[in-house]
Amino acid sequence: MISKFKTEILIGSLLLATLAVILANQVIVRSCELTVNSAIEIGCADDREIGGTSEASAGTDGDVFKFCYSVDEASLSKNYTLISIAPKGDFPSDVSWLDHIEITAKTKRPEGEQVTFYVKDFEPAVSVEDDLTSLKYNETVLRLSNKMETVTLHRDEFLVPTWWQKRFDAKDKVAKPSFKDVRYFEINANTSGKGEIDIASIRCVGNYVESATLNQVLLWVWMGGALIGIIFRMVKLKNELEDKILSTSQLLEHNNMLATESATYHELARRDPLTGLFNRYGLEAELKALSSKGSFQYAMLLFDLDKFKEINDNLGHSYGDRVLFDLATIVRSKLSDKDVVARWGGDEFLAILANHDVKQASNFAEEIRQSILASDLIYSCSFGVCESEVDGNFESTFSKADAAMYDSKNSGRNKVTSYREKRGRRSADRSLHVVPEITLLPNDLPTGEFAIYE
Ligand code: GH3
Ligand code: MG
Repeated sequence: MISKFKTEILIGSLLLATLAVILANQVIVRSCELTVNSAIEIGCADDREIGGTSEASAGTDGDVFKFCYSVDEASLSKNYTLISIAPKGDFPSDVSWLDHIEITAKTKRPEGEQVTFYVKDFEPAVSVEDDLTSLKYNETVLRLSNKMETVTLHRDEFLVPTWWQKRFDAKDKVAKPSFKDVRYFEINANTSGKGEIDIASIRCVGNYVESATLNQVLLWVWMGGALIGIIFRMVKLKNELEDKILSTSQLLEHNNMLATESATYHELARRDPLTGLFNRYGLEAELKALSSKGSFQYAMLLFDLDKFKEINDNLGHSYGDRVLFDLATIVRSKLSDKDVVARWGGDEFLAILANHDVKQASNFAEEIRQSILASDLIYSCSFGVCESEVDGNFESTFSKADAAMYDSKNSGRNKVTSYREKRGRRSADRSLHVVPEITLLPNDLPTGEFAIYE
């Protein structure tokens, strides 16, 4: 039962495993957090270094990072005041698994404020160690309220500013946010006047495997699995096909053998084993086949060995068998393909001569009779010849041939008699091939040399 649904079970298990991996990657998160207790380096920068009037200071106050700034409204467009926190120690610089960043912070402004948040990453394609401005600016907007709250910034909210892209001629991957080698987290104030921001923590949260990477791996696994599955299936189908072809050819071979055997047995059933001629059943089948092609004209030849019983008694049964075989050979050698001859039973034979009239059949019988006389074996036959009737059936033709044959027997044997109708009276037209009656000597056997007494 299980083996029947092997593929379905396998695919189902793989689906479940895939779902489990995706879920596990969602549920089991990893994170790293920066607080005042972390190993960090804190710093600040303002535009006084480029001739501005803004001021910034950064430090820690209890359990928060404190960022104080003062921005002159007149120079707001080009000012900058920022706090910069560089993680050290255990905090991993590679947070490429990042899904989102949770920042717990507040501003002193009652209405809240909007600042710019940077994650500065070392981009191997363009960044150089001694130029901090060459670090990639992963930038987003951070909205703070005057209550200590945790704000979540999703990875896809970050972008790389166009000025940075232009400056470093960044394209493709380089122009996209990256978090592989994070050096600084920075907050830049964007509001004029004095401000104060407290940052309790910056927490990077992500999956064990980056979703995109996991999806790609799963895709490859599924594609590879499907490919292997298809290859296995094809190999299996090929083997099955080869097995089927083999068993089909074996079956065909067996069938052919059976057909040959059946044809052989069928033929044997139609033949007389001693003479090889058709038996009565075989003759009937042949006649049926011939008559199915339409009515045809034929002559019937019925002949019976003379005093065959005596031949058997005097010369032995095997000699009698040889006589039967000899007669069959003689008759067979004289028949055409269209004619049929059968051993009708015992020492009696019947031949159907296609398209023969009674005269032709009579001559044919005479030819056989002469050949018998010329044979090495001593025997003779009596013949009865009859022509088929247009509306007569086989039985009536047969009885006439039989009558003619018995005329041959009664008038001394070893004769050919044709049957003719004469004014409603049957009369036999006997050929005058009169041969002395054969008497066999029972002695001096079985030399084959027999004395014949007239
Ligand atoms: P008739 O001239 O009147 O026909 O006399 P006959 O002795 O031939 O008489 P009949 O036709 O009745 O005898 C047929 C004999 O043929 C009897 C039987 O022993 C013999 N016979 C039948 N089948 C075979 C056979 O297969 N082999 C041999 N050797 N003899 C057979
Ligand atoms: Mg006989």
